[in-house]
Amino acid sequence: MISAILVCAGSGTRAKLNKNKMLFTYDGKTVLEHVIDAFTEVKDIDEILVTVSREDQLEFGEIIYLKNYENVHLIEGGKTRTESVKNALSKVKGDIVLIHDGARPFVSKEIIERCIYSVNYYGSGITCIPSTDTLGATENDRIISTHRDGYYKIQTPQGFKTKDIVEAYSKIEEGEVYTDDSAVFAKYIEKPRIVLGEEKNKKLTHPEDFDNLSQFRVGTGFDLHRLVEGRKLILGGIEIPHTKGLLGHSDADVLTHAIMDALLSACSLRDIGYHFPDTDPEYKGISSIKLLEKVLDLVNLSGYQVGNISACIMAEKPKLMSFIPKISTYLAEVIHINQKDIGITCTTLEGLGIVGREEGIAVRCSVLVKSK
Ligand code: MG
Repeated sequence: MISAILVCAGSGTRAKLNKNKMLFTYDGKTVLEHVIDAFTEVKDIDEILVTVSREDQLEFGEIIYLKNYENVHLIEGGKTRTESVKNALSKVKGDIVLIHDGARPFVSKEIIERCIYSVNYYGSGITCIPSTDTLGATENDRIISTHRDGYYKIQTPQGFKTKDIVEAYSKIEEGEVYTDDSAVFAKYIEKPRIVLGEEKNKKLTHPEDFDNLSQFRVGTGFDLHRLVEGRKLILGGIEIPHTKGLLGHSDADVLTHAIMDALLSACSLRDIGYHFPDTDPEYKGISSIKLLEKVLDLVNLSGYQVGNISACIMAEKPKLMSFIPKISTYLAEVIHINQKDIGITCTTLEGLGIVGREEGIAVRCSVLVKSK
């Protein structure tokens, strides 16, 4: 029987994400799901133990439950990586165990299988790649020697016979901290055997590692409402003094409607007519800003955040230019973006068409969203 331990209990402070990096989403899945999926693809693996810090237990548990993963179990992590691995090792059922950094989601099936093969034949298998950079040993900011040939960068997974690595961990003395398991094995059992890894099996550590994973999507929205007497004119949640207002089931905020449709479209989430039908009395006279907040929740739930918004208001009258700063400040606050990330232009249509005849106001909007 073969077990895998995924070490995911770190805080990931170097990534500056304000959350555990395992919860970062790319290609529609969290890093956690990507790494679990890589291991579940290998049929020989019978159980996966995921170490998690107490703060993240609920969120990790929810993901694992919703994905219906079988044989994936959460193990409470310790204060250090060494402690977390030790906790997980005490629960391992397999006679072979692979220990893997959760933040290496690009691990391939081939690497995992090579690692298992090496444990079967040589008693251990440490995934490494030859160093292409020259490594310098330093003392007081001076390089004292350089190395390249014979030096490897150590990755994970690292595979062992469970009884050996458990024994090695049992010998660790108070205060000893190891950054990986090959070092513990090398100190207390024997020199571990190397297995060839892959350059792409890198560890997500720094902010730029995540920037490269961000996915961008664009969306477009358009709306037009009729101008009538006896209604307020609301644009982007701000009331604009005018002799007429826009007609609609809600407050008919044509700008906010176009923004909402652009956001929904970017995330492939249908449109506002689908989510807030104008036959539903719940939405009669409602402030469109309330609906925008619901749309932002949907965008967030689908793993995206707003990058920037660009809208063009087409209106013959009133002259809107002086209201634009107030509108964009307010919308930026509602959408939680910087004011510089929302650009609103306004134009007349030179007396032409519906807008030109002052029968209505139209808005065209483009947005960019990026994965969180
Ligand atoms: Mg509308």
